[in-house]
Amino acid sequence: MSVVQPQRRPATCPSWCTLGHGLHAGEDDTVHVSGALMVRRTVLRLCMSTDPSTGEQEGPYVLLGGEEYALHEADALIDALTELVDRAAVPGPGVSPRAGS
Ligand SMILES: [Zn+2]
Repeated sequence: MSVVQPQRRPATCPSWCTLGHGLHAGEDDTVHVSGALMVRRTVLRLCMSTDPSTGEQEGPYVLLGGEEYALHEADALIDALTELVDRAAVPGPGVSPRAGS
């Protein structure tokens, strides 16, 4: 089984990165970006960068449109969305679920 590797993939490049490294010199090689997912017109991607002088890693972050979420913030967003969708899925009139019990 053969795996096609992007050109000159840096050692710090995560498995989800889809950038073709080595095409542009400098800072481009310190940034890693995933493929895009779309929700309506909003693009979602993973992004991570490495400071070339210190080697310090920033991210990965979830990019949601123009917003940057740390992974724990993205988790909280998922939980909040799930809770709202679950609440909306409860049928019936606007009565508290505990009412009448
Ligand atoms: Zn990469």
